[in-house]
Amino acid sequence: MNLAETAQAAFTEAYGTGPAGLWAAPGRVNLIGEHTDYNDGFVLPFALPQRTVAAAGPAPDGRWSVCSTLAPEPVVFGVTEPGDVTGWGAYVAGIVWALQDAGFEVPPARIAIASDVPLGSGLSSSAALESAVLTALIDLGGLDVPTERRPAIAQRAENVYVGAPTGILDQSASIRCRAGHALFLDCRSYAVEQIPFDLAGEGLAILVINSNAPHQHVDGEYGERRKSCEAAAAALGVPALRDVSTAELPQALDRLDDDVLRRRARHIITENQRVLDTVSLLRSGRVREIGPLLTASHASMRDDFEITVDQVDVAVQAALDAGAYGARMTGGGFGGCVLALVDTGRADATAAAVAAAYEQRGFTAPTSWVATAGPGAARV
Ligand code: ADP
Ligand code: MG
Repeated sequence: MNLAETAQAAFTEAYGTGPAGLWAAPGRVNLIGEHTDYNDGFVLPFALPQRTVAAAGPAPDGRWSVCSTLAPEPVVFGVTEPGDVTGWGAYVAGIVWALQDAGFEVPPARIAIASDVPLGSGLSSSAALESAVLTALIDLGGLDVPTERRPAIAQRAENVYVGAPTGILDQSASIRCRAGHALFLDCRSYAVEQIPFDLAGEGLAILVINSNAPHQHVDGEYGERRKSCEAAAAALGVPALRDVSTAELPQALDRLDDDVLRRRARHIITENQRVLDTVSLLRSGRVREIGPLLTASHASMRDDFEITVDQVDVAVQAALDAGAYGARMTGGGFGGCVLALVDTGRADATAAAVAAAYEQRGFTAPTSWVATAGPGAARV
C-alpha cells in the first residue's frame, strides 16, 4: 500500500466510511539559513518527497476527529482554546483554532493521518502534519485563504496552541515549495522566489544523513536562542538582526558587551549573507560553488550558535573527508539531520564513510538517502 492508500484505509477503519478526499504536505530540508527565520531574515528550504497525507471528510456530529497510523484511537474535540487538546492532537486542534481565530468558519471534519516523514528528526514532520490538515480543511470548507497567508496560520497553531516557539520556515516550506525548486523566502515580507534546483542535471546530489541522535532540551534551547537574538537586536537598536549587514558586523560586535550575545548575533548576521550568496550562485547555475557556504554555515552553528552535537559534527566532517563539496546540519539543531552536496556517483561512498565514522565512535547508526526537491502541500 502506498501512503495515500494507507491514509484512506486508516480513515475507513476509524470512521466506517470513505474520506471525501486526500491532501498531502511534505517535510523539508533547509539548504541554508538556520535560525534566521525568527530574526526576520532569509531561508532557503526545499520540500522532501517524504510527506504527510490527510484523508478527510465532513463530520456529521459537528466536531473534529483525528487519528494517525501512529495513534489509531481518534482524538475528538469541539471548539477549543489553546491547552484544551494536548499531545499530538494539539497540532490538529491548533490548526482548527488558528483558522477560526483568523475569522474563518472551519468545517467539522474527520481526518486520518499517514506519513513517511521521520518524526523529531528536524525534517519538520510537525509542519507537514499542520499543513496537510490546514490544506484539507481549507478545501473541504471552500475557505478563501490565499497561499501566502497559510504558513502564518499554521505557525500560530504551533506557537500558541502547541507551545513550540518556532519561526515561519517549516510551514512556509511545506506549503509554498515547488518540485525541482528551492524556496528563497524573506521571513519579514513573506516574499518568495522559486529558485530552480536541478542537481541531477549538474551531476550532483544532496545526501541527507539522519544522525538518529536523540533530541535533547530542544524547546528550551530554542527559546533561549530566540531570547538571545532579541536581546542582541535590542542592544543594537534595530527591529531584528536582519537589519544588520555583514559590513556593519564589526561595529555591531563592538557594541555588544556580552560574548554569548556577540557570537549569537554573528551567526545570524553572517548566515543571512550566506543565504543571499547561495541564492546568487544558484541563480547563475554555479551549484558546486555553494559547498563552502554550506560548510561555513555549519561552523557558525557549531561555534557561534552552539546548536550542534557530536553526531552531526562527526557526520559533517566525515562527509567532507569523503569529498563532499560542502556539508552542514539542517534544522533547528541538537540532533537531527546533516546534508552534504556530493557528486551523484559519490553519494553511496559518502553515506558509507559517515556510517563507518559513527561505528568507530559507538554512535547509533545513521540513516542516509539522496533527497530531491518535491512539491508543496496540495490535494492528492
Ligand atoms: P519535527 O517537526 O522535527 O519532526 P517536532 O517535535 O516539531 O519534530 O514534531 C514531531 C511531533 O509532531 C510528534 O511528536 C507528534 O506529536 C507530531 N506528529 C508529526 N507527524 C505525526 C504523525 N504522522 N502522526 C501523529 N503525530 C505526528
Ligand atoms: Mg517540528
